[in-house]
Amino acid sequence: MDCPVCKNAMIALELAEVEVDYCTACGGIWLDAGELELLLADAEQTKELLDSFKIDSDCTEKRRKCPICLKRMQKIIVGPSRPVLLLDKCPRGDGLWFDKGELQDILNRAKLDKDNKIQKLLADIFSG
Ligand SMILES: [Zn+2]
Ligand SMILES: [Zn+2]
Repeated sequence: MDCPVCKNAMIALELAEVEVDYCTACGGIWLDAGELELLLADAEQTKELLDSFKIDSDCTEKRRKCPICLKRMQKIIVGPSRPVLLLDKCPRGDGLWFDKGELQDILNRAKLDKDNKIQKLLADIFSG
């Protein structure tokens, strides 16, 4: 699978026992459908987070192509917090794209990762 941003081949990376796709060039992470739920473990909070997703229809940011179906992804606004956190989501629901740091950001904001397990893993990846 190629990175939707820089077209590099992504590598499989194990994150808290979930296999995600990671681009070593730009630091982006692709999560297949359902993997965010697996990572976050807390079903209730994950649902709250997913329910807060809103499609940003007048976003001027460049829309990337889904690495699976190659359709242009939707820009998704996460929650009410500022500054706005924008994710890319496949319109067919194949998965979600996180630019470098965005996965950490979403975990921070939603306070979803109580024991900071995933945060530490991410910090390790991005510091190396
Ligand atoms: Zn990349
Ligand atoms: Zn897709």
